[in-house]
Amino acid sequence: MDPAQLVLDSVPDAVVVASAEGLVTGWHGGAEALFGFPAGEMIGRPLSVLFPGAPERDLEELATLGGAPGIDTVVSVRRRDGRDLLAAITVRPLPGGAGTVALIKPMGPWLDPRHLQGRANPEWDRVLGRVLRELIELAGVDLAAIDRTDALARLLVEQARRIVPGTECLMSLVPHDRQQNVQIIAGAGPWAAAMVGMEWPRAGTVAGRALERRLAIETVRLQERSTLKHRLTPGGIHTGRLIPLWTPEPLPDGRSALGVLGFYRAERVYFTPYQRRLMNEFARLASLTLQRTELIAATARAAAGLQVGVEAAYDLASTLAPAQVVRALIDRALSASGADRVTVMRIDGEEAAVVESLDLRGERLPVGRRYRVTDWHDTTPERRPLIRLALATGEIWRGPGHAIEGLPERLARPLEDIKHTLVLPLRTASPPVVLIFGRRREEDFGESDVVTLRTLGNMAALALRNAWLYGQVEEASRVKTDFLNMAAHELRTPLTVVRGYLSMLQEGTFGPGPQTWERPLKILFAKSEELGHLVDDLLLAARLETSRVATSAAPVDLNQVGGAAVQRVRPRARELEADLRFEGARRPIVVAADPDHLARILDALLANALTYSGDRPWVRVRVRPATGGRARVEVEDRGHGIAAAAGERIFERFYRVEDGARRAGTGLGLYIGRQLAVQMGARLLLERSAPGAGSLFVLSIPELEPALGD
Ligand code: ADP
Repeated sequence: MDPAQLVLDSVPDAVVVASAEGLVTGWHGGAEALFGFPAGEMIGRPLSVLFPGAPERDLEELATLGGAPGIDTVVSVRRRDGRDLLAAITVRPLPGGAGTVALIKPMGPWLDPRHLQGRANPEWDRVLGRVLRELIELAGVDLAAIDRTDALARLLVEQARRIVPGTECLMSLVPHDRQQNVQIIAGAGPWAAAMVGMEWPRAGTVAGRALERRLAIETVRLQERSTLKHRLTPGGIHTGRLIPLWTPEPLPDGRSALGVLGFYRAERVYFTPYQRRLMNEFARLASLTLQRTELIAATARAAAGLQVGVEAAYDLASTLAPAQVVRALIDRALSASGADRVTVMRIDGEEAAVVESLDLRGERLPVGRRYRVTDWHDTTPERRPLIRLALATGEIWRGPGHAIEGLPERLARPLEDIKHTLVLPLRTASPPVVLIFGRRREEDFGESDVVTLRTLGNMAALALRNAWLYGQVEEASRVKTDFLNMAAHELRTPLTVVRGYLSMLQEGTFGPGPQTWERPLKILFAKSEELGHLVDDLLLAARLETSRVATSAAPVDLNQVGGAAVQRVRPRARELEADLRFEGARRPIVVAADPDHLARILDALLANALTYSGDRPWVRVRVRPATGGRARVEVEDRGHGIAAAAGERIFERFYRVEDGARRAGTGLGLYIGRQLAVQMGARLLLERSAPGAGSLFVLSIPELEPALGD
């Protein structure tokens, strides 16, 4: 007998030799035990019988190695009874290119430590993914469950227990929202299975110590060392090796400590070095899978937080009223954080004032009530106010339940059973604002709550700042309007008196004045008229602001209104040597409008056309019948024109284009014109304008009975 064959036959694992054509030429060691085929049945048959799922290319590679020095991988193989099983396979070339020899280990030993060397190995990651997939498929678990930590943990502990016979195995997880605890999520073995679901604090337990030290703890006096002795006695457990599961990169929820993999048994005997190595390698595998599934879960939670943020952004941005922004914020914040209570406080130096508060169960704090910041503290003995810390660092701070000094009994009672506090500062808000959340249930605010609230806080700070700025602008604008209104009123009375006396002087009511007074009196009178118009404009603009302007609607012919406006401006046009022409429509264009308002609008347009032009202005006023129901009055000039950027702004109150040349005017004409037009159901638009090329203003208004005119 060939000595090589003797050696091969003594190997417990399956050894299969294949020709370069992919036919089985040798069937050794545990091959029959593993596959169920006797040598007689397999010799000469193609490899594809063993790997029915593998593509042709893979089989060819297994037989010839495709030029590679060897292959180490995990494959799914088929037994004679039709069952598939997962196996690690190592393929090496035979001398002289005669084919290959493969060593095939069933599932347990696929944990060949060689596969686990160095986790940065991409090959290893690929293998891991495949192993897990196949593991799960074999276990008959829905593939979708691969992303579920508990499902994977169950599979892992079953496998782990097989690695070291005679042990029971537990896998515990640090829950993302209770990171000071560990919870048992899977157990293999009669005692271990009964432990699943239990949870206790990390502090004081052996598992907690292993996590803290990031080192495995092995002991044969587990009962003596554990605070959970009563849990160990029913299983008679004395020996344990607890291996921490760690991730080098913290997860999005802040966890680096993921959980613990524990091997337990009754005999007080330390594990062998070989067993330890297997356990440690397996724990590394478990870390990687946990990392992966928990990462997927944490990512999903982070995405949910982001969703809250996006929705909140829409919500908060939908209004500019600060009170509404705050209410939307409170609603969003409560549902996003799972809090029972939230108080929004504006911080003013040493004092905090309640902006809004909500308690799902108890009495709310009265809006506007003020506290000293130091009166508000968490219930730690040092009593550091979290508000202070949050404001100083701009970060979220958490602590135990809160208390406020000097509160009346009625308001203090709802605070008594608050167990957890979280303070969220709104960073960009000015004045500073903090949100104080309270939770009554045992479970503390978790890292994912912090992530969500941080997003929400950023949105809220922006929304609040906008709302406050807008409020300030509104207030400033109101103050200005009030002042102008008041000023115009105050001016009107003395102005009337001045004008009265001036006309009496002109008319000689006080006897004839000297000849030399005539011209100055004329100028004074003209200027007081101008002043009168200015005051009228101011008053009208102020009234339009508060919409208290009487508007009558009578049938008016636009030809008449337009013609009259041109006549009124004729004297000034003549002075400027303007080319001013009126082009009426051939039939009456009747609209329902206030004739005074129409006159005022056209006067303003004509005055502007003459003012904002060079020498000898060119101006046309045209009346056009309705197209699409609206008749038009056009005022066109070939003057300075208006840049596109100012096109809409010229209709704002007091807006004037800065062009260096100082011209008399208030910036109210077009504002008043547009507001009056709107009140009559008309529109005033700058239809076309370009710097240096002139402008076309159009007043459009629905025409009455357009077809009956002629
Ligand atoms: P005012 O004429 O008193 O400044 P208006 O509201 O009538 O106020 O006009 C606002 C601004 O729009 C003017 O200051 C001027 O810069 C610009 N403007 C108005 N009409 C014209 C025009 N026909 N051509 C060029 N610029 C114009």
